[in-house]
Amino acid sequence: ATPTAVMVGTGVGASQGVLIKGGQALESAHKVNCVVFDKTGTLTIGKPVVVSTRLLKNLALRDFYELAAAAEVNSEHPLAKAIVEYAKKFREDEENPKWPEAQDFESITGHGVKAIVRNKEVIMGNKSLMLENNIPISIDAEEILAETEGMAQTGILVSIDREVTGVLAISDPLKPGAREVISILKSMKVKSIIVTGDNWGTANSIAREVGIETVIAEAKPVQKAEKVKELQAAGYTVAMVGDGINDSPALVAADVGMAIGAGTDIAIEAADIVLMKSNLEDVITAIDLSRKTFSRIR
Ligand code: ADP
Ligand code: MG
Repeated sequence: ATPTAVMVGTGVGASQGVLIKGGQALESAHKVNCVVFDKTGTLTIGKPVVVSTRLLKNLALRDFYELAAAAEVNSEHPLAKAIVEYAKKFREDEENPKWPEAQDFESITGHGVKAIVRNKEVIMGNKSLMLENNIPISIDAEEILAETEGMAQTGILVSIDREVTGVLAISDPLKPGAREVISILKSMKVKSIIVTGDNWGTANSIAREVGIETVIAEAKPVQKAEKVKELQAAGYTVAMVGDGINDSPALVAADVGMAIGAGTDIAIEAADIVLMKSNLEDVITAIDLSRKTFSRIR
C-alpha cells in the first residue's frame, strides 16, 4: 500500500472510532488469523452485579455485607465495586454508607482481598485464595460454586475468621452482538480464543454462550502474554483484545493489541489500536480496513 493509502485507511478508522496508532498496526491487522479475547469488560459488559447470596452460617445479611463491603471498598476491582454497591441496599445510610474501618487491607491480584474488620479476619475471593490460606471449602460451598459457574456467573467465597460463611453470585452479561462477532470472525477464517483470570467453570460457560471453543482460564497477566506468544510460535498472527491492566503484557506481545476504549489507561497505552466505542464489532472493522488497504489483487 502507498503511504497515501495508509493515511486514508487510518483516517477512515478514526472517523469510525477505530484509533490506529500507526501504519504498522494497520498493516499487521490484515494478517490476523487468531483473536484472543479477555473476558471481563471485553466480551462482557464489565458492569458486574450481585445477583444472589447464599449464606452457610447463621448470620444476618446486613452484617455479612457490612464485613464484605468494608473489605472490598478498598479495592478498585469491578467485582469489588459490585459487592459494595449491593451491600448498600441493607443499610439505613444507603446514600452515603459509613463502612467500618478495615485494617491490614491486602489485595491479591487475580484472587481477591483480605482485611481485618470489626476484629474479624475477612478473606474473600476465588477458590485458590481459600486454598492458599488453608481455609476449607465445604461440599455445600463447592456445590453452590459449581451451580453459579454453570450459569456463567462468578462465585465469590467469603470467609470470616477462617470459615466460608457465604457465597456471592455475580453476573456480568455478554455484550450485545458478541456471539455474532465471533461467528463473523469464523466466516473470515479467524480463530477466537478466551484468555481470562476468572475460573474455568465461568469461563467455559461464557465461551459456550458466545460460541468460542478454546478457553484458557485462571491466567495471570504474564500467562496471558505467554499464551499469545505460544500462538505466534504455532504460526498464528495474533490480535489481543482487552481492557484491563492485567491484559497489558498480552496487548504488547500480540501482533496487534486492541484496547477497549472504556478500559484502563494502561491497556489503552499498551495497545496498537483503540476501539473508542468499546464495541466488539470494531475488531472486525479494524481487520476489514486493513484488508482493504493492504490486500490488493496483484
Ligand atoms: P479477569 O481476567 O476476568 O478480568 P481477574 O484476573 O481480575 O479477572 O480476577 C480473577 C478472579 O479473582 C475473579 O474472577 C475473582 O474470583 C477473583 N477476584 C479478583 N479480585 C477480587 C476482589 N476484589 N474481590 C473478590 N474476588 C476477586
Ligand atoms: Mg478484563
